Amino acid sequence: VTAQTEAELARAAAHSAHNYDPLPVVLESAQGVWARGIDGVDYLDLLAGYSALNFGHAHPRLVEVARSQLGRLALTSRAFQHSLFADFCEAVSGLCGKEAVLPMNTGAEAVETALKLARRWGYDVKGVPPDQAEIITCAGNFHGRTIAIVGFSTDPDAHDGFGPYPPGFRTVEYGDAAAMAAAVTPNTVAVLVEPIQGEAGVLVPPDGYLRAVRELCDEHSMLMLADEIQSGLGRTGETFACDHEDVVPDVYILGKALGGGLVPVSAVVADWPVLRVIGPGQHGSTFGGNPLACAVAVEVVRMLGTGEYQRRSRELGAHLHTLLGALPSDRVTAVRGRGLWAGVQLAAGQPPARVICERLLARRILAKDAHEGTIRLAPPLVVERDEITWAVAQLTDALS
Ligand code: PLP
Repeated sequence: VTAQTEAELARAAAHSAHNYDPLPVVLESAQGVWARGIDGVDYLDLLAGYSALNFGHAHPRLVEVARSQLGRLALTSRAFQHSLFADFCEAVSGLCGKEAVLPMNTGAEAVETALKLARRWGYDVKGVPPDQAEIITCAGNFHGRTIAIVGFSTDPDAHDGFGPYPPGFRTVEYGDAAAMAAAVTPNTVAVLVEPIQGEAGVLVPPDGYLRAVRELCDEHSMLMLADEIQSGLGRTGETFACDHEDVVPDVYILGKALGGGLVPVSAVVADWPVLRVIGPGQHGSTFGGNPLACAVAVEVVRMLGTGEYQRRSRELGAHLHTLLGALPSDRVTAVRGRGLWAGVQLAAGQPPARVICERLLARRILAKDAHEGTIRLAPPLVVERDEITWAVAQLTDALS
């Protein structure tokens, strides 16, 4: 770490809340999968902004669209319609095979929106008595940082010390459809599920789990809310992680890559029987659905429309998982994931994942731990085969 990097980190630490513990690097520019530090070193980005950078840094098509929109019209608020709003809503609902969209900005906001939507639907459509709605969530979840969301987090760091929390949530084991079924009551309006749990360490549920959740929701008239914020938009080799089981949730929750790595864009996507329960004045956001966000997201949907990124994720993901599968079993006990997404589980006795990530940084790779024992890898979908090969060689080295 150079003296300049150290000085910058110290300056930031002196004047920012310490709610992150960043690796010791300060980035100043990036293109595609490579990010340059103020130390002049080029780093291969294997985190991709927690999957917000599925199309890589500064994708020329997205930068061009953003740049031209920025000079034309960037914000109207929803008090007035703008000329890209209809395009955005058609594009995003079309991508999901749904009828309508409610735009927000961040992932946590979109999750909150889906929770409000589900409660309102429960009262207005399902007929649950006022203030009695229940929503089932899964242990190990990560859905963001708002009070309601951290209230049902099972991670003590995320949860403890921020109460009191809103009631109305029940937590069950992830991947256990029978446990979910046992938690259903007549007042259950929805289940909120990540098709793959990202922050928990890239946990892929057992085959058939998502289908079982879908069937349970149908059986008990509950909404299936799929948080595809991290798993969606090509990451797993399909447009949505739910696609792997041919499951269509009632509500898609999207974020991260929807903004092309340039702007925060999130959305809740559903059919009219669900989405129409929210009327004027009942929900909103100053920046949600702004013209700049819409312009970028429309281009993101166009890029996903060719299937190229999904195919890259499938094919290059197979390469990644083949190489990771050959890591020594005394160092790595499991490799989980789908497509260009992997959680590498370190064996007991290995250094913490954070230390391995520091070693990777010294080898010009940006990667992030997920809890103590997992290194998560999620390169931009524009990564090349030989870059993956090189990265896994570096990881092998860092583990020895
Ligand atoms: N949901 C999932 C599955 C996520 O992975 C994340 C972020 O990591 C969020 C929600 C929260 O998104 P944001 O950080 O944009 O609020």
